[in-house]
Amino acid sequence: STAIMWFRRDLRLRDNPALRAAAEAGDVLPLFVLDQRLWDRAGAARRAWLAATLQRLDESLDGRLSIRLGDPAQVVPRVAEEVGAGSVHVARDASPFALRRDRAVVDALTGAGVEGVATGTPYAVEPGTLTTKGGTPFKVFTPYSRAWREHGWPAPVSAPRSVTYLDDTSDGRVAGMLDAALRDVPIDLPTAGEDAARRRWERFVERALDRYDTDRDLPATEGTSRMSADLHLGVVHPRQLLGDLEGRSDDGAESYRTELAWRDFYADVLLANPGSAWRDLNPLGIDYDAPEDAIAAWREGRTGYPVVDAGMRQLLAEGWMHNRLRMITASFLTKDLHVWWPVGARHFMEHLIDGDIASNNHGWQWVAGTGTDAAPYFRIFNPVTQGERFDPDGEYVRRWVPELAHLPGKAAHEPWTRDDGYDHGYPQRIVDHAEERTVSLERYEARGS
Ligand code: FAD
Repeated sequence: STAIMWFRRDLRLRDNPALRAAAEAGDVLPLFVLDQRLWDRAGAARRAWLAATLQRLDESLDGRLSIRLGDPAQVVPRVAEEVGAGSVHVARDASPFALRRDRAVVDALTGAGVEGVATGTPYAVEPGTLTTKGGTPFKVFTPYSRAWREHGWPAPVSAPRSVTYLDDTSDGRVAGMLDAALRDVPIDLPTAGEDAARRRWERFVERALDRYDTDRDLPATEGTSRMSADLHLGVVHPRQLLGDLEGRSDDGAESYRTELAWRDFYADVLLANPGSAWRDLNPLGIDYDAPEDAIAAWREGRTGYPVVDAGMRQLLAEGWMHNRLRMITASFLTKDLHVWWPVGARHFMEHLIDGDIASNNHGWQWVAGTGTDAAPYFRIFNPVTQGERFDPDGEYVRRWVPELAHLPGKAAHEPWTRDDGYDHGYPQRIVDHAEERTVSLERYEARGS
């Protein structure tokens, strides 16, 4: 019989339990459904990253990946009927959008007498698995991560012995959309696909993992793995990375494991609290502003705060931003400009090639003080001291802000202290951090009143 492997956020052939299950059920039609709703919301870099990743997957399937356009609730049952499939195989996803979509698809398949089979998830520990002793979902990261380590994760699965793939039945319109996405890409994308991801990971393990615990906070250094965009699309699975770290208990490996636990934690929190997508998990009850000009300056990297502008420009140029900068720029938008976090989260989701609803919305809420286990509201990042601490030589700022490239060392963080600070057109500060910090704290004190 025939089985459909419906790829979503698991765009790989190695270590893919759902693909294995499909192969055991029969000849396999590998399918991806391009959902216009998601496509339209993504920015050019995100679309290009998906297009490049799909092309690599198609190549590794010898051109047999069927890509269809439309609403999966209609497309998947239609394809199942066309090829006479008895089952549709997926990896389970946990976001509110994915759960809604999958319910609609399963309903439609059931009506048509086709079995829907979910095997595995994009996480080391499936969201919803771990609970507190009281049986409730975790709300705090540290106990979650302890339970996560104790629970452990499965070893990677071996490839199915032999798979017979059915021929490509792609929608003619899709190839044009993907080609256009790749042609119009405004940035240099990383190389896509499983092999490239593997090489990126191996280079990281070889060169940077030993120092990851300290270097991960220094944005001028290539100190992090840059696996996030591949993890997001499931080009690699976290258990592959965790498997490679097996037996290592040094600070680098421990701290890398902890970061992967954060990824699982946020997916778990979102599953337990679907209302926390795009909304406050724990509303603060404070007033927010919507200063259009200042928000535009933030988006474009023209706030006059060097480290903030460097981060925002890295996002536009690379489709990726260093974690320390994500925190600093998010703090600036929420605490210095008093803007509600979803405004910033939308901008990030549009541009980040690793844009991921759970990590993104909860990363933002951690900074804004509305999330689970959030930073206390009064902890407001000072953009100047953050810059001086984590970019002590000003190297990161000079890399991304050419108007400051003439300033030596950490002077790049404080152009206002130099006669030549503004000689090359760098903008003046749009707000005064000390004043805005006070405003934030006052609003917090007055909350709910
Ligand atoms: P590494 O340091 O090499 O970490 C390894 C992996 O661990 C990452 O690839 C990622 O999967 C996971 N990870 C690391 N830090 C976190 C974290 N704080 N939360 C969740 N997972 C983490 N990450 C996303 O993948 N998508 C997002 O849309 C996203 N938005 C964010 C928004 C804000 C405001 C903040 C503060 C953080 C956000 N993060 C997001 C988390 C983190 O910044 C990125 O995962 C990380 O910078 C990716 O780079 P890397 O792969 O080199 O990370």
